Amino acid sequence: SAELKTPLTGAYQQPTGLFIDNEWVDGVDKKTFEVINPSTEEVICSVAEATEKDVDIAVASARKAFEGVWRQTTPAQRGQYLLKLADLTEKNLELLAAVESLDNGKSIMMAKGDIAAVAGCIRYYGGYADKIHGKTIDTNTDTFTYTRPEPLGVCGQIIPWNFPLLMFAWKIGPALATGNTVVMKTAEQTPLSALVFCNLVKEAGFPPGVLNVLSGFGKVAGAALSSHMDVDKIAFTGSTLVGRTIMKAAASSNLKKVTLELGGKSPNIVFNDADIEQAISWVNFGIYFNHGQCCCAGSRVYVQEGIYDKFIEAFKKRAQANAVGDPFNESTFQGPQVSQLQYDRIMGYIKDGKAEGATVEVGGERHGDKGYFIQPTIFSNVKPDMKIMREEIFGPVAAIAKFSTEEEVIKLGNDSNYGLAAAVHTKDLNTAVRVSNALRAGTVWVNCYNMIHHQIPFGGFKESGIGRELGEAALANYTQNKSVSIRLGGAIF
Ligand code: ADP
Repeated sequence: SAELKTPLTGAYQQPTGLFIDNEWVDGVDKKTFEVINPSTEEVICSVAEATEKDVDIAVASARKAFEGVWRQTTPAQRGQYLLKLADLTEKNLELLAAVESLDNGKSIMMAKGDIAAVAGCIRYYGGYADKIHGKTIDTNTDTFTYTRPEPLGVCGQIIPWNFPLLMFAWKIGPALATGNTVVMKTAEQTPLSALVFCNLVKEAGFPPGVLNVLSGFGKVAGAALSSHMDVDKIAFTGSTLVGRTIMKAAASSNLKKVTLELGGKSPNIVFNDADIEQAISWVNFGIYFNHGQCCCAGSRVYVQEGIYDKFIEAFKKRAQANAVGDPFNESTFQGPQVSQLQYDRIMGYIKDGKAEGATVEVGGERHGDKGYFIQPTIFSNVKPDMKIMREEIFGPVAAIAKFSTEEEVIKLGNDSNYGLAAAVHTKDLNTAVRVSNALRAGTVWVNCYNMIHHQIPFGGFKESGIGRELGEAALANYTQNKSVSIRLGGAIF
């Protein structure tokens, strides 16, 4: 481990190893990589890097636990471990939030919200562990059939850097509640909070091998996990590009089950009759929350012509009022982007938007001279074929266009290969329901945005993904049905 410091907690011990079989170990090849603080661009520490050999060891540990101790653990006991883990998460909320802000750059206010949501999610699935049932099915008087939702086995899980510990919780909650074991690969940009969390996993009493956590790179550890012959399922959250690679790896190895939570370019639609102040707050939160680094970010904003000019003027003021700066300042709303690569990608899109003739209403530049900070940016007059209206930017960049009719905006809203989320702002209930039903998206928010909750299924239509996370729906992605038919009468043939 390394002794690190955060402004909130002072000194703390940061684990830096691979977490396999409830032990901290070095990688077989003793490789390490540096973790960067996105606010200062300085190195925080180095952590062990998993290679293919470490993936093999972690998978073997997870397999052993799945065939042995975890199978013998009752559903109620599995639930107890998760409930204990949720309690420990709350007990360590400040530390986990501080590590998240240090490593990811998110404001401490938002990081605390993330960790509270981690506890909520894990507790929710802890509650489900002993409430997962099969059915009985009568086909005729001579046969009795029952179904069993059985765990899939060893689940590989690959997560991104935008909500490091929350994505971790969304993945392990349903997987462990249903009796699977896990090998998790965290994102190379943000490995630290998950490593601190592993100490809590151990403290909660989970048996060795049930949850293994590897820091490492996508092309090495991620690829090894998704093509592994002894992994039964791969769950991935990240870009659509990598999602395709993972699905190919699953198909060409052992046809492991695949769930994907991918990118988006979500429409946020404001009608003439919306409460304009409220709508602006939600549009602002929709695009600038987590510095625009949300797969469901409301990045395409369509405003009806009657309020368009008024909306732009007021939204400009709102965006400029967002406090950008040090994530450890309690009043900060927006911290730095996560990495130099992300910073460069976003600035590239801003350049494209300018070159294609969209109007920069505010922002469009770097904020400050150190760290990966970008000003909240609004483009207006954005045309449907412009890159900034079509591609996921994953940064604090809103693209706004004007529309006149409901029919037109439904077409515009659905004019994307993605279908993760959408929102409608109106006071007319009929408009709200008609438009919500017509939009091809896995989530539609009415008069709000980003209201994600662990009880509500979340996932994508079209190229935004396969399967659903959260809610009862996620349980189906971590179980497979077995039908057992018992003949009560004699032989037929
Ligand atoms: P981003 O481009 O925003 O970093 P990615 O989709 O590349 O998003 O990354 C999300 C996660 O997928 C990370 O944990 C990353 O290491 C992993 N990853 C990247 N490439 C691959 C790959 N070829 N196979 C498996 N995992 C990968």
